Amino acid sequence: MSIDLEIARKATLRPIAAIASRAGIDEEALEPHGKYKAKIGLDFVAAARAQRPRGKLVLVTGINPTPAGEGKTTTTVGLSDALNGLGTRTMVCLREPSLGPCFGVKGGATGGGHAQVVPMEDINLHFTGDFHAITSAHNLLAAMLDNHIYWGNSLGIDTRRIAWRRVMDMNDRALRGIVSSLGGVKNGFPREDGFDITVASEVMAILCLADDMLDLEARLGRIIVGYRRDGSAVTAKDLKADGAMAVLLRDALSPNLVQTLEGNPALVHGGPFANIAHGCNSVMATKLGLALSDVVVTEAGFGADLGAEKFLDIKCRLAGLAPDAVVIVATIRALKMHGGVKKAELGREDVDAVRRGMTNLARHIENIRKFGIKPVVALNHFTSDTAAEEQAVMEAVTALGTDAVVCRHWGEGGKGAEGLAKLVQQRLAAGDAAFKPIYADELPLADKVRTIAREIYHADDIVLGAGVAEKLARFEAQGFGHLPVCIAKTQYSFSADPTLLGAPSGHTLPVRDVRLAAGAGFVVAIAGEVMTMPGLPKVPAAEQIRLDEAGMIEGLF
Ligand code: ADP
Ligand code: MG
Repeated sequence: MSIDLEIARKATLRPIAAIASRAGIDEEALEPHGKYKAKIGLDFVAAARAQRPRGKLVLVTGINPTPAGEGKTTTTVGLSDALNGLGTRTMVCLREPSLGPCFGVKGGATGGGHAQVVPMEDINLHFTGDFHAITSAHNLLAAMLDNHIYWGNSLGIDTRRIAWRRVMDMNDRALRGIVSSLGGVKNGFPREDGFDITVASEVMAILCLADDMLDLEARLGRIIVGYRRDGSAVTAKDLKADGAMAVLLRDALSPNLVQTLEGNPALVHGGPFANIAHGCNSVMATKLGLALSDVVVTEAGFGADLGAEKFLDIKCRLAGLAPDAVVIVATIRALKMHGGVKKAELGREDVDAVRRGMTNLARHIENIRKFGIKPVVALNHFTSDTAAEEQAVMEAVTALGTDAVVCRHWGEGGKGAEGLAKLVQQRLAAGDAAFKPIYADELPLADKVRTIAREIYHADDIVLGAGVAEKLARFEAQGFGHLPVCIAKTQYSFSADPTLLGAPSGHTLPVRDVRLAAGAGFVVAIAGEVMTMPGLPKVPAAEQIRLDEAGMIEGLF
């Protein structure tokens, strides 16, 4: 059994009503799903947001990920437990894990070691059914679209230019590209179609950015499902699908309450992709957390070049949020890999490699400062790290004018992150964060991409692929020029080349294609391979997963 699961199983969970009461949530507002999970009623969420002062927002992000692992979720949970331990009322806000990857490469998304949210099997599997609701709402729109065409296509949709695929929450490469409506006249008009994984659905991004039920329905209505022969867009509202989609999503919009291993409240809600979408938990949950507690600690997916940039430029901009502190998670192992060490040799002390790899962390520190916030560094301790290696990081970070602290929450729980919590408290007390996005709303779309490429990726310039400039001009003419951009590129490098570790400069960012997510409210710029339907590996984790005699899950995570 994995160590994470073993620790999670040993935990004594408190009834969810006790967690809610600690968090200041009325008993009537609680809609329990079993003993340890609950949804929080939307009326209570709205009232809490209107009545209570807003707490402080702390973002946890990381250096560019390597196969060595970083531990952003683990640190987000550990920091939250540590702050609670010090008497600061803190809520941790995380994404919901996707089901598909659980059966592929092992690994849950609920933290690790002694810093986890529980019940971890539930959260990693069906949880409270949000992803099923999103899948249903997405596919209802797909069904209504094909049905509209079947019954005469009065909207004049060009069936060669349909922009709405189907989704399911499973890694299944066989469904990436399909032909639908085969089998004769009564089955409609055959056309090329395909499936994405549910977390890649625009409905997921919409659920995570919606401010309330009305905003959710309005955003659903703006989804573009396809185009007419004259290039004009057909929306979900044109198909009259927005109302029924919102109905399917009503319960899913309610944030989910669970607990950390140390019995502190946690909101786990929404889980958009971090490449073609913005990669953070829901605005609903974040704002509820801010209303209920003095501090919210939340995580953004991937490295800070993607995750933090999108959190700041998309989520915070659209939701009117401003972070008060940013924590960058780094590990000795990942820094060594950025310094050129192979994964198999990570066990050997190599202070020089750590120093070389610091270029990656240094650039993320510099980048976060450009948003008006001085970040702090959490050095997530692994047992193989040596004192000399850690010393090298501390010195380098100090030389950059900020602070780092070694954290042991994976092994020790909240106690192990007390140093980090104190550092964060200091940053919050200093109150000198002056958040500003990296580009203005008015900037033309291409210039927004160029600004991110130059300022955050340290590229010389961007290169637009065939037809991209024309598409951007069309989006602007249609009134979407003010939207933020969401760049889909590799998470492993600042550049579009996943093999360029460390801190590459002078590269160009190739923008192959652009897509308009009019409902979510951003323009996606595709700068690399983007996989919206993952496959399973040669030996999927699913082969080892089963129930034991006691009905407990074996082999998962
Ligand atoms: P991220 O959010 O950055 O993807 P996670 O927090 O989910 O990373 O951690 C990924 C995996 O690494 C988890 O299985 C977790 O248990 C493990 N992990 C995290 N920190 C440590 C650590 N300090 N020592 C050992 N394993 C760790
Ligand atoms: Mg994570």
